[in-house]
Parts: sequence; C-alpha cells; structure tokens
Amino acid sequence: MQLNSIGPLIEKIRAREYKKAVITTHHKPDGDAMGSSLGLYAFLKYHIEAVHVITPTDYAEFLHWMPGHNDVINWEEKEAEARKLTEEADVIFCLDFNRLSRINEYGEVVRNCNAEKVLIDHHLEPEHFEDYALWNPSSSSTAELIFHFIKHHFGLENISKDCATCLYTGVMTDTGNFQYNNTNSTTHMVAADLLDQGADHVRIHEKIYDVFSSDRSKLFGYCLLHKLEYMPELRTALMYLSKEELERFNVQTGDTEGLVNLGLGLKGCVLSVLIIDRTKMVKMSFRSKGNFAVNEYAAKYFNGGGHRNASGGQSDEPLEMVVARFKNTIIQYQKELNAI
Ligand code: 5GP
Ligand code: MN
Repeated sequence: MQLNSIGPLIEKIRAREYKKAVITTHHKPDGDAMGSSLGLYAFLKYHIEAVHVITPTDYAEFLHWMPGHNDVINWEEKEAEARKLTEEADVIFCLDFNRLSRINEYGEVVRNCNAEKVLIDHHLEPEHFEDYALWNPSSSSTAELIFHFIKHHFGLENISKDCATCLYTGVMTDTGNFQYNNTNSTTHMVAADLLDQGADHVRIHEKIYDVFSSDRSKLFGYCLLHKLEYMPELRTALMYLSKEELERFNVQTGDTEGLVNLGLGLKGCVLSVLIIDRTKMVKMSFRSKGNFAVNEYAAKYFNGGGHRNASGGQSDEPLEMVVARFKNTIIQYQKELNAI
C-alpha cells in the first residue's frame, strides 16, 4: 500500500503559487527527520520565496553540522516566531511522522492553520490530516521519498551538493548504514545518485558516527557492563536507565541513540529494549529481528508504534512499573520469539 496524491502540489510549486512554506518533522528529530527536512529545504528555497524549517524540539548535536542547521527554528525556543510563520504559511510539509501528536503541542497549531498540508512519510497507519500525501511504508526513509519527489518531478540536476548531503544522511541513518531490511536495490541506486550529486559519504559517516563525547562513551560502557540484561529463554535484551543515571553521565539529546542496538548484537538476541526515564515520561525504544512485529507490541502495551523492526513507545508510569510491565507482557511472546 502506498499513497501518492501530490500531482496538484507539484503543479502549484512549478507555477510558483506558494510564497511561504514551512517544513516540520517529529519531536527529537533523528538523522532521517533532519536529513529529509534540510534536504527539502535546500531544494525548495529555489522554488518558494520564504521557506522555514521548524522543529518541535531540539535535536542531537551530531546533526548540527548539516547544511541549513543554522536556519532551523526550534518551537520550544521561539514559539511566537514559529506560530506566526505557521499561521502565515501557504503550505506545510510534514516529514517523517504520521500523526500530529508526534510534534507535541505544535501539532494543534499545524492542524488549525490555513496552510495546505503535505505528508511525506514512511510510517504505518497515517492519521490523514493532510491535503497531499507521498506515503510509502516500504521506503527506506523519508529522505528517499524526498529524493524521488525531486528527481521524478524536477530532475536530478536540482539536487544540489547540500541537498544530496542531507538526503544521504537520512537514508544512511534510517537504514543503519544500509544494513536493515528496509534497504533494497533502489536504496542503493538512490545512494549512488546522491554520491554523484556531491554527497561525501566518508565525511558524512565521520560526522555522524565518530563524534562520541567522553561522557557518551562512558555511558555506553556502563550500560554494557552494568545494565544489559539478557533473557535467553526470550532471546530478549533489556536495558533501563533512571534519571540519576542520566544525570551521572550528563546525557544530552541524542546521546542514547544507538544504545538499543547493542542488545541486538548479542548472539541469538531477536528483541532489544531500552527504557529511559526522561523528564516528562518514560520513553521506550524497541528493535527486533525477523518477523517479530515490535510496532504492534509497542502499540498494544506502550502507546507507541513505528516500524516492524524499529519502534518506540512511552508511559506515564514510574520506571520500575514500566520495566515490570514489559517483563510481564513479553513472556506471552516466548513462542514467537523462539521461532525466529
Ligand atoms: P526510536 O527508538 O529511535 O526513538 O524510534 C524508532 C522508531 O519508532 C522511529 O521510526 C520512530 O518514528 C518510532 N517511534 C518512536 N517512538 C514512538 C512513539 O512514541 N509512537 C510512535 N507511533 N512511534 C514511535
Ligand atoms: Mn524515518
């Protein structure tokens, strides 16, 4: 299943009917969220007079090198400006999320504004708040969808080096370096085109992955040594972090990214879970192998969702209760987990 209703949108962009555009993406944006937003920004600047990227929150420092970062407006820091730009916009591009609740309280501002809404996304079960959609849950990343959007309707030559750099970052991070099963031959062909358009894959890789702070390295070491719990009968790895532990390692936005993958690196492990006691809620990250649909599990028990093998969830309960609920509910899946 996929949705493509962007025909009239393309015509309006070509006819320069839009004067003011906003691009937004999900809270705590990751590499694909920022890669697709800043990639589209680099392109749209040449087609629409005023384009602004608004994020609902801040994002990890390891993404701050990306072209266009200095122009990004964080809703939490500049709410009045973001609200004004949104209310005055003719068109809003909503990238890499499927429900307005994923952009926190900014979601209702977007819902109620007069702008035409465009959804470009690859998450299952979109809410359908949009006027135009380019939606394909089989796509490796939203950045790949943006690539096709530009190449197909405007031509590859309209992908500048900055645009290619951002889009490559999105594809690379959402596929775990072309490793996950959302990668196919098209993904590699997209990457090839992006390299041809000037993306420097060595530099991008270094900027994203070779930038651990000393605190972050120590946090990972601490988790491996003291926090990683493996349950062989469930082929499941579990880690959880309290507020005190986050403070002890001076955890900043993005510092826990990649932590959940350490569990999946254990031989035999097919499900890895990371539970973090964030300021406002307990946040969960799930990663699975094979056909274990961790998005369905996350939706059923932790008000979450995402992709089949990479999902998230959240809870208002105390950390200990969330951990206990995870342990009590995952037992029911023992047979499925052992069949993978
Ligand atoms: P992460 O574990 O990296 O935060 O998220 C993994 C995937 O799950 C991402 O694709 C993200 O969009 C999705 N996801 C994370 N948290 C939530 C959530 O609370 N609700 C939903 N529906 N999806 C989530
Ligand atoms: Mn994505």
